[in-house]
Order: sequence, then C-alpha cells, then structure tokens
Amino acid sequence: MDFVVRFWGVRGSIACPSPYHVRYGGNTSCLSFSMGDRHLILDAGTGIRGLGQYLQKQDVKEATILLTHTHWDHINGFPFFAPAFVPGRSFRILAGHLIGAGGIQEVLNTQMHTPMFPVPLDAMRARLEFEDFASGENFRLAPDITVRTCPLNHPNGATGYRVEYGGKSACYITDTEHTPGKPDATILALIEGADLVIYDSTYTDDEFPAKVGWGHSTWQEGVRLCRMANVKRMAVFHHDPDHDDDFMDALGAEAKAVWPGCFVARESEPVVV
Ligand SMILES: [Zn+2]
Ligand SMILES: [Zn+2]
Repeated sequence: MDFVVRFWGVRGSIACPSPYHVRYGGNTSCLSFSMGDRHLILDAGTGIRGLGQYLQKQDVKEATILLTHTHWDHINGFPFFAPAFVPGRSFRILAGHLIGAGGIQEVLNTQMHTPMFPVPLDAMRARLEFEDFASGENFRLAPDITVRTCPLNHPNGATGYRVEYGGKSACYITDTEHTPGKPDATILALIEGADLVIYDSTYTDDEFPAKVGWGHSTWQEGVRLCRMANVKRMAVFHHDPDHDDDFMDALGAEAKAVWPGCFVARESEPVVV
C-alpha cells in the first residue's frame, strides 16, 4: 500500500497560468497524500479544482482536508472543489490557526459570502465536518495514519504537518519565515528523520533580505534544516510567481548540486514517499 504525494498546485501567493509557467505549473497550493485507498488533501488553493475532478473520476467518497492556514492562495480553490457539491460525499476540514479567530467554518463561509461569490457554502451538498484544533496538537486520522502538527512563523498563523503511514513520513511545511542563523527548533523537531519534507521555498537566500516580514523562507534554509534533521528528501515548494520555468530549472540544478536530496515540486508529478 504505497504512500504517494501528488502536487496539484505548487505556487504561492497567486495563480500564474502563463506560457512561462507550464513546466512547473501555475496553480496555488494543493497536495494529495494517497495512502492505500485513503486520501488526504493538504490545502485548497486553485490546484484543488483538478484534484476534485480526479477524485470524482476515481469515485472517491470521502477525504480529509488539512489546511495550513487561510490566506487566499491556500483556500481560493475550495469553492471549485466539485466533490463538495455531490450528495453522498463526505469531507472533514481541519485548521489549526483559527481558535479564537472565528473558526474554519466561518472563514470558508465568509469566502463564499455575497457579494464576493455567487454560491454560498451551504449549497455544498456533501457532508462537511469542520474542526478547529491548536497547532502543536497531534491526532490520528485512522488507526494507521498519524498526524503531528506544529505552529509556523507566519502572519495570522499557519500549521506545519507530519503525516506517518506504513513506516513512512511526509511533512508539509508552508508558509513559514525563518530567522537567518537561527534554525527553527519547532520545525526541526517535527521533521526529524522524515522521508520527505515539502518546504516553503518562496525566495532564494539572495532575495530574502528584501522580503523579511513577508512570512516566507528559502530553499537554502530548507536544505539546512533537512540536513540537520536527517531528512531523506526535500521538495522545493510554494514557488514565487515571479520565478518562471527557466528560473526554476536553474534553481533546481543549483539545489541538487548543493544537496542531492533536493528536488523542485512540479504540478501533477507523483512522488512515492
Ligand atoms: Zn501561501
Ligand atoms: Zn500565507
């Protein structure tokens, strides 16, 4: 029973469907973790539209959606997630940053509220369960699927995830800002020994000084953390829309030369954990 990660959206900030973004993809953050016949969805950026079509084709009836946070690029595909409109489907939607800040149901409700969107949340006919937890809590999604979480350093908060299944572990660490020269101990503890870490690599170390306070990190910091924590592989993720295909090709080659465990996430390219 393989543990397979699929990238449905790899961009940060805003979708960028252009001829210069076709090789890596222009959709915003959305991943699926398939564990046997179970499906876990991470984030609901514009990439979740394609995932929804895939789940419909596979006749998948239920899934859990874990949200890192609710900035636009991580939720604005949710109103276009087709399975949520189908009676008989069932989705659990969890977020770790909204206790005392409205809660996840209210935030998604607001996103689809008039006059910003024509179709309200309650038009979704699937069974939707909304749950808020506090980043740092751990839980089981099934007897053989464990989720550990940690708070990330991001404006309005965000949650990092570690999912363990079948003796393998994959971590999803976005969006988060590092402090140069001070490795994030919370992240190090979460990713220790993981098989795969998907990391907020919005900027390069050269670009970072001009973006302090924007809530993001660099692929170089990701590599430093992964090496310190004995991680096997790292996916460069949350690509800046200003980083076109040629830029990402060069970045990928440079990253691989620095650490062979590093690769650049591409939309719809499956990775076995
Ligand atoms: Zn983001
Ligand atoms: Zn964000």
